[in-house]
Amino acid sequence: MSDAQNDYQDIREAVRDLCSQFPSEYFRRIDEERGYPEEFVEALTKAGWLAALIPQEYGGSGLGLTEASVIMEEINRSGGNSGACHGQMYNMGTLLRHGSQAQKREFLPRIASGELRLQSMGVTEPTTGTDTTRIKTTAVRRGDHYVINGQKVWISRVQHSDLMILLARTTPLELVTRKSEGMSIFLVDIHQALKNGMELRPIANMVNHETNELFFDNLEIPAANLIGEEGLGFRYILDGLNAERTLIAAECIGDGYWFVDKVSAYAKERVVFGRPIGQNQGVQFPIARAHINVEAASLMRYEAARRFDAHQPCGAQANMAKLLAADASWEAANACLQFHGGFGFANEYDVERKFRETRLYQVAPISTNLILSYIAEHVLGLPRSF
Ligand SMILES: Cc1cc2nc3c(=O)[nH]c(=O)nc-3n(C[C@H](O)[C@H](O)[C@H](O)COP(=O)(O)OP(=O)(O)OC[C@H]3O[C@@H](n4cnc5c(N)ncnc54)[C@H](O)[C@@H]3O)c2cc1C
Repeated sequence: MSDAQNDYQDIREAVRDLCSQFPSEYFRRIDEERGYPEEFVEALTKAGWLAALIPQEYGGSGLGLTEASVIMEEINRSGGNSGACHGQMYNMGTLLRHGSQAQKREFLPRIASGELRLQSMGVTEPTTGTDTTRIKTTAVRRGDHYVINGQKVWISRVQHSDLMILLARTTPLELVTRKSEGMSIFLVDIHQALKNGMELRPIANMVNHETNELFFDNLEIPAANLIGEEGLGFRYILDGLNAERTLIAAECIGDGYWFVDKVSAYAKERVVFGRPIGQNQGVQFPIARAHINVEAASLMRYEAARRFDAHQPCGAQANMAKLLAADASWEAANACLQFHGGFGFANEYDVERKFRETRLYQVAPISTNLILSYIAEHVLGLPRSF
């Protein structure tokens, strides 16, 4: 075990202990049923893990993104999937860093106790994709309300959340000097919204991930639910996205270790041509390389989380950690599937499920190409490509 793996040993052991009550069979069954791991999310909430980032004064444990990343890593390393609940962690950051005192007092203690879930964030739209500044969903102020119209796509966990953070344009693109200006974020009460102008259509998809199309038709939300200042929403959301990228990196690292451990164990046992397949260097080397890349990604994850926790710029590190970790877990996934031979395709080995789950992170929450272009432009100073 590396030094990085020895860090935060108390958190690791406590999360492993909880996860051991939800073995691979549990997640396999939920995947086959296309269900939601309700009991697992409930247990995590009750044990306080999903309130890790909430300060103690609001009923949470006041930990940093580093510790939160270790929690997510351990869930995925145990064979589970943090995708069912990770939104609660990174969405919290937006409310914590940019919400008013009144909003924090109203919502944080209830989120910490598990009375309310803040699992959803609505950014992506069908016609604009990654070009977020061109979103078409609008929020128009009318007295003490904002009126929302538009459409979102791929918005996750809405059916298992009470609150959602929503990004909408409050000033038309033509009227702002910089295209990143004029957008705002709102805290939406999902149950109220579903009775009052928001429609939801689930999207069947490759992973067992509850995700939806959302349609807004004159949805009214109280002006008091605007987070921070009107027009600065894109800046606020970027902060949250850096936390999200770092946490997703940690989940990929957990997946990567799971694949490496799983395939190493199998390669020691599976005997073909009179010797364990793991005795062949052609089998050893891809596994060893995947392990090296998972470890390296883990270090970049710690650096991104450290900078986030210190309120230092961390866009480059969060993006690099996400790319390195998603690539490492995908490499480990391929080695694991390959060296399980035909058995890798059998549901009961869990390899095909984890393979599908980790593949998502080449695309969401930000695709690999967009990370490369961010680093090219913002770190290396290469000409802007779009
Ligand atoms: C299961 C799932 C859950 C999700 N959950 C959420 C959620 O909860 N909330 C939310 O807001 N969003 C969510 N998303 C959306 C996700 O963030 C987007 O799918 C992702 O950011 C990619 O955007 P897109 O699908 O619009 O792809 P597009 O922007 O249409 O891009 C398509 C492809 O083209 C490539 N591409 C585009 N432009 C360029 C360029 N200039 N140079 C090189 N390559 C380029 C991209 O890399 C990508 O591979 C989810 C998506 C999935 C699949």
